Amino acid sequence: MAHGRTSYVCLPCRASYKQFHPGYHERGRVCPRCAGALIHVGSAFAAPRRRDTEAWRVLSVLLHAGVRFHKSYCGGPGYRPRSLREVRERMDYARATGEPFARALVRGALPR
Ligand SMILES: [Zn+2]
Repeated sequence: MAHGRTSYVCLPCRASYKQFHPGYHERGRVCPRCAGALIHVGSAFAAPRRRDTEAWRVLSVLLHAGVRFHKSYCGGPGYRPRSLREVRERMDYARATGEPFARALVRGALPR
């Protein structure tokens, strides 16, 4: 699926847009609602419902940490936390171990 579509997200609008993959000369894309910058989140992204405040807060943490939802060779994006509790556990782990947030956030299971 080299020419498939991928997802872009506007966090303030809680909106996601499926668009074609960016080309090499691509400038930043903007949100059709608010004209803010869209974040390229990747083709394996599934948008939460707009009213799901917790899911959007989790997503905001992930995106600000640099986590994206690109398809891996095995299909899906891999583990992504879905609740703020799961996010908090991984942030605590990152702080305790010095591991970068982006890596700790996508750990399915935390070592004890
Ligand atoms: Zn917007």
